[in-house]
Amino acid sequence: MTSFTLHGIPVSRGIAIGRAHLLAPAALDVEHYLIAEDKVEAEVARLQSALAAVRTELQTLWSELPKEAPAELGAFIDVHALILSDPMIADVPLDIIRTRHYNAEWALVTQIEELSSQFEEIEDAYLRERKADVEQVGERILKQLMGSASLLPKNVDGDGPHMIVVSHDISPADMLQFRDRAFSGFITDVGGQNSHTAIVARSLDIPATVGVSFASALIRQGDWIIIDGDAGVVVVDPAPIVLDQYRDRQARQLRERKKLGKLKKMPSVTLDGTPVTLLANIEFPDDCVHALEGSAHGIGLFRSEFLFMNRAANELPTEEEQFHSYKQAVIAMKGRPVTIRTLDIGSDKPIDEDEQTSLNPALGLRAIRYCLAEPQMFMTQLRAILRASAFGPIKLLIPMLSHAFEIDQTLALIEQAKAQLRTEKIKFDAEIRIGAMIEVPGAALALPMFIKRLDFLSIGTNDLIQYTLAIDRVDHEVAHLYNPLHPSVLFLLSTTIAMAAKAEVPISVCGEMAGDIKMTRLLLGMGLREFSMHPAQLLSVKNEILNSDLSVLEPATRKILRSYEPQVIAEAVERLQTL
Ligand code: PEP
Ligand code: MG
Repeated sequence: MTSFTLHGIPVSRGIAIGRAHLLAPAALDVEHYLIAEDKVEAEVARLQSALAAVRTELQTLWSELPKEAPAELGAFIDVHALILSDPMIADVPLDIIRTRHYNAEWALVTQIEELSSQFEEIEDAYLRERKADVEQVGERILKQLMGSASLLPKNVDGDGPHMIVVSHDISPADMLQFRDRAFSGFITDVGGQNSHTAIVARSLDIPATVGVSFASALIRQGDWIIIDGDAGVVVVDPAPIVLDQYRDRQARQLRERKKLGKLKKMPSVTLDGTPVTLLANIEFPDDCVHALEGSAHGIGLFRSEFLFMNRAANELPTEEEQFHSYKQAVIAMKGRPVTIRTLDIGSDKPIDEDEQTSLNPALGLRAIRYCLAEPQMFMTQLRAILRASAFGPIKLLIPMLSHAFEIDQTLALIEQAKAQLRTEKIKFDAEIRIGAMIEVPGAALALPMFIKRLDFLSIGTNDLIQYTLAIDRVDHEVAHLYNPLHPSVLFLLSTTIAMAAKAEVPISVCGEMAGDIKMTRLLLGMGLREFSMHPAQLLSVKNEILNSDLSVLEPATRKILRSYEPQVIAEAVERLQTL
């Protein structure tokens, strides 16, 4: 095989070299083979038992529906049961096995594809939408056919460190499965720069490139792969000389990282002596170890929703379980503050991956909107966080706020949780600080509403950019439009930072911009003094800070902010690196 190169979006830095491991096939990407005449009936039986298993699965789902479950849920299961028993699904694939001798998966997918294309011709919008249901039923049957359909290979231990995962897509929940396994890189066909999948790859500090169109179709199991996570380049089956060059670069990068280790003990101050706070973003309490290794001053963003993922159906972490996780984090940080963001679920982080999402999930019932709609679940989390606050400094951070009444309702619920704990004589920090994420343009433009009600602010640039520029952060087709240097983004960022400073309300940035060393000087120039990022970025950003002079950066940044010309801005930001 000859070597070839693919291009995508760089999302996690560094170079990885290893062999491709293609993940369990996506629904419509299954093995195709022909069945011998004498094995046909056995193959038919295999598909029949998968169909029966799905039937049972749906019945169980029905019988376990909680009384308060919305009526749509029952209807949804009914539709799936109806589709399953329709001869188009229940019989035709069996005929395909018998007549064409296709294996069961192939026969099923052939029929699902046929039905999907028929649905597309239908004029009635309601009926056309049923296509998704047919595909979901198809996926359920496929999962049964392929066993547990586990994402991960069974025995990775020996080869692990040199395996590169290649997949059409990986959800944030699936990414979590990689935390304990030694993979050296990730490639996906789809995905954007700041999708949560990319964020988890960065937090694992593993080179990754997403949006590499057709990677999973072009790369074969076991191919040698190089990922250049800085450039977003994937080299498949590299020539020996190319491999050597990348190995050299990899070794050089490792040496540079080691050198950064020397900065651990240095105070984080600019050349002119201004202290800058460096905080870590974490997904699990165990990540505190990495935060401390990077000498973080605290945790600026604990994405608590990761505790809610990959769990058995309908099972949410209890108050006790959450309390232990939060307490573990605050104890691990030994007196440094831990900012716990309340559940930011929805959009590209569904609790249940099979759950039907709203029409436009990024604009739907996510984060605080979801929590206010599910007050009981929210109270459980608030109680757990408050209880953990008795063991060390905790701050509460609320995601996606945009309305005053949302802030007021949230504050009222926190008061209610406190009152309950007081009655139960359970200790908590009565003075716990409560802050808002500024990640909706409407919030940034109405900042006094937040300043008046809350103790601190944290700018979530990932969502702020998504919503300001109307680009779904998960969609690789619009990923090229995702630009932190767009004049509107710079305007919102700089005015938010300036207004908070004027009101003496602490403000940080906890989006990916805070960990991007190309942005450090610009943010410093805007007046930012608190940065929260992946632990792996802490020392690189500190290095920038140690070499920054605010008396030079502030006037240069003011000049940048007066420009509305992208090219001029990009060049000027580039020049900041040399000042
Ligand atoms: C953000 O939106 O910038 C942020 C930090 O939150 P998340 O990436 O989890 O949406
Ligand atoms: Mg966000």
